Amino acid sequence: METEVINKKDLIKMNPVFGQLSFDNHEQVVFCNDKDTGLKAIIGIHNTVMGPALGGTRMWNYNNEWEALNDALRLSRGMTYKSAITGLNLGGGKAVIIGDAKTQKTPELMLRFGEFVHSLGGKYITAEDVGMATSDMDLVRTVTPFVTGISEEKGGAGNPSPITAYGVFMGMKAAAKYAFGSDILEDKVVYVEGIGNVGEALVENLSNEGAKIYISDINRARLEEVRDKYNVTIYEGDNLCAEEMDIYAPCALGATINDATLSQIKAKVIAGAANNQLAEEQKHGLLLREKGIVYAPDFLINAGGIINVYAELENYGKKEIIRKTENIYNTTLEILNNAETNGVSTHQAAFDVAQSRIDARRLKNSNGQLN
Ligand code: NAD
Repeated sequence: METEVINKKDLIKMNPVFGQLSFDNHEQVVFCNDKDTGLKAIIGIHNTVMGPALGGTRMWNYNNEWEALNDALRLSRGMTYKSAITGLNLGGGKAVIIGDAKTQKTPELMLRFGEFVHSLGGKYITAEDVGMATSDMDLVRTVTPFVTGISEEKGGAGNPSPITAYGVFMGMKAAAKYAFGSDILEDKVVYVEGIGNVGEALVENLSNEGAKIYISDINRARLEEVRDKYNVTIYEGDNLCAEEMDIYAPCALGATINDATLSQIKAKVIAGAANNQLAEEQKHGLLLREKGIVYAPDFLINAGGIINVYAELENYGKKEIIRKTENIYNTTLEILNNAETNGVSTHQAAFDVAQSRIDARRLKNSNGQLN
């Protein structure tokens, strides 16, 4: 009998959702389509054991729908672990809208998207991510209560990016303490890749501390704008990873730590805001460990934003937001030490703590159901 050989790519095509490499037992994946507004969105709900799945909406001009689905799956899973490691009663979710936020985002499209979020009855709560602004969330709020990241004028906690940046700064300091014996970043050479909302706010924190900052971005106008405000140098080369530096801060998109870059990275510490920095978590996490590079796990140190929006659900104020965000310093140090003790990558160490919290809650929830 002839054996049919089916390659991996064909298998993924035949099993487009549950067969995706990024599929990780997601509870629900919702495809939203609206002909009139041109909305095409995917909402990934990874896990709701700890609470409703909260995560931002990203609007991006994906090359194809596979990329969009992959992003929704990867990002929503990341949110599960981010909230669990931060100790928040939230599950993990994320939405992606396919399209160019600059030219295709209309109020009608955002309202229709809000209605789709509403139809999930609070199982998914949205917020802003790349391509979204606080004003978009204010608009979504007019059709559903299941949205956070609302402006302060409308009673929300406002733009989460400065808090995200502050958390990244705390995580970076902890990683510096671990790697260099001191958390003072004065004169440390730091490369910030991507100077959008979070990147610029991180530059401000670093600049106040007297770090030697290099910035890179694909948007030249942004580079010049930020250079005019802070004491920074624009990186003019085309292979940032290969530069001599103390700290690399990825603050653009994910997967910048990959097979191609890993062999070149000279940084002693990696600490940045971008989600999913490791192209392959297991493999690249371990390779970083072998190379002696101290990697502060992204989902741990970029949790400031979710701490900020969670305040809207739990009604806590700025003081508590700052306290919880500053605690990222302690958690990062603990995780870095755990990784060393257990001989695992720092990513794995953070993941294990988050997973054990989710497992404990699952058990508690099911015991509650039995009693
Ligand atoms: P943003 O869209 O404001 O900024 C991203 C910046 O990266 C832009 O200036 C863009 O031009 C630049 N960029 C894109 N591709 C690049 C490349 N290849 N090289 C260099 N620069 C590039 O987004 P943001 O809100 O600042 O978020 C940055 C990252 O942090 C994202 O990965 C996001 O998911 C993550 N994050 C953000 C928050 C938040 O509160 N905003 C919270 C957690 C995680």
